[in-house]
Amino acid sequence: MVPQWLIEKKRDGGELTDGEIRDFIRAYTDGTLPDYQMAAFAMAVFFRGMTDDETTSLTDAMMRSGDVLDMSDMPLPTADKHSTGGIGDKISLPLAPLAAVMGLDVPMISGRGLGITGGTLDKLESIPGYDTRLSVERFREVVAKVGCSIIGQTATLAPADKKLYSLRDVTGTVPSLPLITASIMSKKLAEGAETLVFDVKCGRAAFAQTRADAEALAASLQRVGRLLGRKTAALISGMDRPLGRCVGNALEVRESIEVLTGGGPDDVRDLTVDLVALMLSTSGVRADGPELRDELRRRLADGTAAAKFAEMVAAQGGDASCVENLSRLPQAEVVRDIAAPASGAIADVDAVKIGRAALLLGAGRCAVTDEIDHAAGFSDLRQAGEKVVAGEPLLKLHASRKTDTAEAERLVREAFVIEA
Ligand code: URA
Repeated sequence: MVPQWLIEKKRDGGELTDGEIRDFIRAYTDGTLPDYQMAAFAMAVFFRGMTDDETTSLTDAMMRSGDVLDMSDMPLPTADKHSTGGIGDKISLPLAPLAAVMGLDVPMISGRGLGITGGTLDKLESIPGYDTRLSVERFREVVAKVGCSIIGQTATLAPADKKLYSLRDVTGTVPSLPLITASIMSKKLAEGAETLVFDVKCGRAAFAQTRADAEALAASLQRVGRLLGRKTAALISGMDRPLGRCVGNALEVRESIEVLTGGGPDDVRDLTVDLVALMLSTSGVRADGPELRDELRRRLADGTAAAKFAEMVAAQGGDASCVENLSRLPQAEVVRDIAAPASGAIADVDAVKIGRAALLLGAGRCAVTDEIDHAAGFSDLRQAGEKVVAGEPLLKLHASRKTDTAEAERLVREAFVIEA
């Protein structure tokens, strides 16, 4: 392979063969192809796009750059969900145990927060003792015994994506449909679930800002999944406003446990139910319909799903008593109301501003090496459509005593639009 010929072919709008793409990814993974040639290739793909066949070859090559887990010996049909990420998106936490009590095995490999978007791993690590770094063998054991396990990406899972993603991040090549598809799918396919369901976020705090972009991403993810032999389905959900009433790691665990015990905000519960119903119907375990939806809500209300969550937490070394006793989760030193400046109806809550404010409080990272403050963030967020009276709280801010909260407070005030 002469890498520059392949780059030129893509630059000039040609279609690469399966063999060319595989050679290119193999050379990049083993270090013989330098970053500058991969960066040029990524930019050519950014401008020229890829055919479905090319995207499928790229995904498959990236998936096979590392270990591909075989989950075919799990006791139940395997299924997982991937969300393209958003502010307050804690759905994986109630979803995995709810799907498990409904007859699915859920092997979930999740990520950390990226920018202002929270990550499932950071949330789970706010549970004292919870280990997100299980070995593959232990991960398989927990899935087989409990029905669900959530861990972090291992070094050997889709290593080509790990390298390529950091390169794209600094070369202006992240927002490319084939590159996003191959990046997400290579990791999700490597985890071995037979069914993959996607929650594609759409809105100002999402990757896909318009409905058309979200539909194109949903279609691309599903098409590649099907071509590589998986059952796939997708829904598109809004990400203009925060999901739920809590943003921040331990606070989102708290809200997830509330949903798992029949409470919590309607939007979090509804999306959890929608996605589990989609996992069950796509995997052929249950037909979707009002009966299934009722049963899912019942499993949340009667504590079955919460017990499954506690079982998973205990199996991963975590303090399962936090399910019964939320005060065992990290608590902020400072908890303060931010008051509405005027009376009226809340017309908007800007998720980007709330996400940035939470990051400034320590709930996210400015650099990959930053430590996060698990207790920091916001709770009791009022939602769009609700009425407030001047002086009533818009939310509660949670921070450590040493955090300067002034900029976060300014962003919160800007985020809420109140109409008289
Ligand atoms: N998430 C990923 O894992 N990869 C992308 O390219 C975009 C979002």
